Amino acid sequence: MPRPITVTQPFLPPLEEFQPYLEEIWQNKWLTNAGPFHQQLEEALARYLGVEHLALFSNGTIALVTALQALRITGEVITTPYSFVATAHSLLWNNLKPVFADIDPDTFNLDPQKIEQAITPQTTAIMPVHVYGRPCDTEAIQKIADTYGLKVIYDAAHAFAVTQSEESVLKAGDLSVLSFHATKVFNTFEGGAIVCPDAVTKQRIDYLKNFGFADEVTVVAPGINGKMNEIQAAFGLLQLKHMPEILQRRQQIDSRYRAGLAGIKGIRILPLPDNSRQNYSYFPILVEAGYPLGRDALYQKLREQDIYARRYFYPLISDFPMYRGLPSATPANLPVASRIAEQVICLPIYPALEDSDVDRVIQLIAG
Ligand SMILES: *Cc1c(COP(=O)(O)O)cnc(C)c1O
Repeated sequence: MPRPITVTQPFLPPLEEFQPYLEEIWQNKWLTNAGPFHQQLEEALARYLGVEHLALFSNGTIALVTALQALRITGEVITTPYSFVATAHSLLWNNLKPVFADIDPDTFNLDPQKIEQAITPQTTAIMPVHVYGRPCDTEAIQKIADTYGLKVIYDAAHAFAVTQSEESVLKAGDLSVLSFHATKVFNTFEGGAIVCPDAVTKQRIDYLKNFGFADEVTVVAPGINGKMNEIQAAFGLLQLKHMPEILQRRQQIDSRYRAGLAGIKGIRILPLPDNSRQNYSYFPILVEAGYPLGRDALYQKLREQDIYARRYFYPLISDFPMYRGLPSATPANLPVASRIAEQVICLPIYPALEDSDVDRVIQLIAG
């Protein structure tokens, strides 16, 4: 019996490589609060990602909540229903009203025209997602933001190391938020970061993630505890060393799927985006009308063979109980997202996945 295959598995370096980091932590007894590994990881990541400043967090969701606080966003925020639920939850945690706009049928990212149509006098910001690490139309979104005086906070949880025209996609907008959850391309077990363009904003974010403390006796904001600890940061530094091999293996798997699935009637694959270095974090396929099975039947067929693909993103965020009463949450307002959510399956992709596993997935889909 072949072993179960899940949609993703974390990359774990050899355990003995982590030992020296742990010994250093045990020696200096600095466990959290901007310790030496935390400082090193912030610098190393900013360099690796090609961004000016970055503030580490305990997870991506707290980073999203804090990003909205840092810019003092109020009123309505235009966002996508086609994402992980934390995107919209971060708005509710700030007492903001999510306004869902539809996605582009070719990229699954927010459609800039639909963003513009959703703007009201209460709109103060846009929260787009680079879905599967494929860059949003950042130029069109920035133009809308400039025209209407809106802030842009990207949920870049899928976009680690992704570039657009040779530049980090994390430089787009006012802030970008990363997740380093165990299921992501780069992980620190749990973790995340806010990417920001200037030192003043980073300072404010650093206050907010540490209860609002500016110094021992000064609290400047009702901050949260969003700090990353030293074990997480050390693991991140080690993981960063392995990124070239992680990305290379993911790219090989992506190519193997593309070659193997090309030409299967009713299976649609998204072409790789132009002019962008990708991280190959997901491999979505669409099960369309020409395929002999429905999407859920194919999903079940794979499960019966111990292949646990996932329907990211189904259900849409706008279909969950805390959102579905919103005027913007109706399927009539979101026809493209509603259709894609019924057709999508994300196939297994992670460094330890073997070619023979990939071929087995392809054969099951083909026949
Ligand atoms: C993973 C993810 C998050 C949440 O990140 P956590 O680190 O798990 O809190 C937010 N948005 C998207 C799109 C994600 O995929």
